[in-house]
Amino acid sequence: MDGRRIVLDPGHNGANARHPEIINRLVEAGGFKKPCNTTGTSTNAGYAEHAFTYDVAVRAAGILRGLGATVTLTRPDDKGVGPCVDRRARIANSRRAEVVVSIHADGASARARGFHVIEPALAPDKGNRRILTSSDGLARALRASFSSVTGLPRATYPGGIREPGLARRSDLAGLNLARQPAAMIECGNMRNSTDARFLSSGSGRGKVARAVAEGVLAYLGAER
Ligand SMILES: [Zn+2]
Repeated sequence: MDGRRIVLDPGHNGANARHPEIINRLVEAGGFKKPCNTTGTSTNAGYAEHAFTYDVAVRAAGILRGLGATVTLTRPDDKGVGPCVDRRARIANSRRAEVVVSIHADGASARARGFHVIEPALAPDKGNRRILTSSDGLARALRASFSSVTGLPRATYPGGIREPGLARRSDLAGLNLARQPAAMIECGNMRNSTDARFLSSGSGRGKVARAVAEGVLAYLGAER
């Protein structure tokens, strides 16, 4: 992994909820506009998605750096606002990343369970057309590593679902503005009590981080 360039994008940020004037500003999203950022969801017990995504990103970065990769996070801590979704994509593009993985957790109905990986569909401005095939490969590698490392089920409830655990969407700025293989992971449903227990535990997040790292490794290894 020496010198491989990886960007991890932990969704949302800790101070977003206190700054609606910043995060509600509209930004470019690939042929249309979207809010700069959102607050994200949380478990019923109050464990916030932004804290979860940041913890997972730090853990996954540690694993990948230990293998010699150069890893950039799109935010330095869990106390700030944003960055906006277009800026997150530009950070990855400017670092000439080989892959970018956005980390999220869902806030769906209480009965819905499991993780899913989202790959880009053709953006309205068609700017991501060159990365659709490679991103599908990355998304499938991440889905495989998630299943084997976390044991979480492959979700079938989300919009845009193509196969269990795999969705394709054209409404996400990060995937529309990416110019390198990109995927987003919804690591589980924070509003489901079984998923929430897993995502709230340190051991669960350790597994999620290992799944992210192993998926990236499998993709970069296969692509070599
Ligand atoms: Zn999110």
